Amino acid sequence: MSEKKEKVGFIGLGIMGKPMSKNLLKAGYPLVVFDIVSESVNELVPAGARKATSSREAAVVSDVTITMLPDSAQVEQAVLGGDGVLEGIRPGTVYIDMSSINPLVSRRICKRIEAKGAHMLDAPVSGSELKAIDGSLAIMVGGKSEIFKRCRKILESMGKNPVLVGDIGAGNLTKLVNQIIVALNIAAFSEAFVLGAKAGLDPEKVFEAIRNGAAGSVMLNQKIPSIMDRNFKPGFRIALQRKDLKNALEVARDMDVPLPLTSLVQQELIALTNEGEENNDHSAICHFIERLAKAEIRRGSTKQNH
Ligand code: NAD
Repeated sequence: MSEKKEKVGFIGLGIMGKPMSKNLLKAGYPLVVFDIVSESVNELVPAGARKATSSREAAVVSDVTITMLPDSAQVEQAVLGGDGVLEGIRPGTVYIDMSSINPLVSRRICKRIEAKGAHMLDAPVSGSELKAIDGSLAIMVGGKSEIFKRCRKILESMGKNPVLVGDIGAGNLTKLVNQIIVALNIAAFSEAFVLGAKAGLDPEKVFEAIRNGAAGSVMLNQKIPSIMDRNFKPGFRIALQRKDLKNALEVARDMDVPLPLTSLVQQELIALTNEGEENNDHSAICHFIERLAKAEIRRGSTKQNH
């Protein structure tokens, strides 16, 4: 006999939230959705979701309420603010924040949720929009093991093999580890490919030659083809990458951990933001070094502008 599916509320229908909520519907969860952009909410209705008019309303009718929002400030607004999740959440139900935010904020919000007799997991994800679409996101979870077990099937409808890393906040700490590696990887291969390009190498041939060697990576495979096509449509926005490194640097500062390379890449992201690139994909990190070197990573070209 198939078990009864818990009702899910989903708040934040952006690049990631939209496909993630569609996968919940596909897995058979009754879904109610909310976003401050009403067009995004309306897009989910033909797929079978019910509309909520506030985060509070989404939480009132749900057994499990999920948020997928940009940063700590938006999560605090949607949960602790007027008409927020905290006003609607019922004892015994669960709140899962899948956004990537400062882990200290996750811990603070958890205290407020638990004071209402409800439970919380922080469960940020890694993977592109494509992985959100095909339901294969990596999910790193913080919280109590019995709540993780209760929500495991819900998480599995959006990602592969969710891992409980530790208590509340551990999900977002793990995500910071992940994001440092992602940003530094893009910055590193951007420098390397610009050197190759200016030296007259065809980036496509370089990519084919090195991708299965020691320098190969998921990021290299994902980003070099679109960089060579000069396609910087997000994906994962520079603004969000900058936010993740800001959170990593704040947490590291509080623990006296120097992060010299992370700080350097953050400076590149600040400069790119000043040049109006905040809504480009984070692969546009390559523009920083391309402009300094007067050379571009471009498909098929072996002659670069000097
Ligand atoms: P996005 O900016 O595309 O979407 C955010 C959505 O939240 C928007 O639809 C916005 O209208 C909505 N929103 C903002 N404030 C709100 C509020 N107070 N109440 C209700 N809705 C509100 O962002 P995204 O790319 O979907 O990323 C979401 C989170 O996932 C971020 O923390 C990001 O770092 C993380 N993430 C993104 C990717 C990616 O590839 N895009 C990958 C992994 C993790």
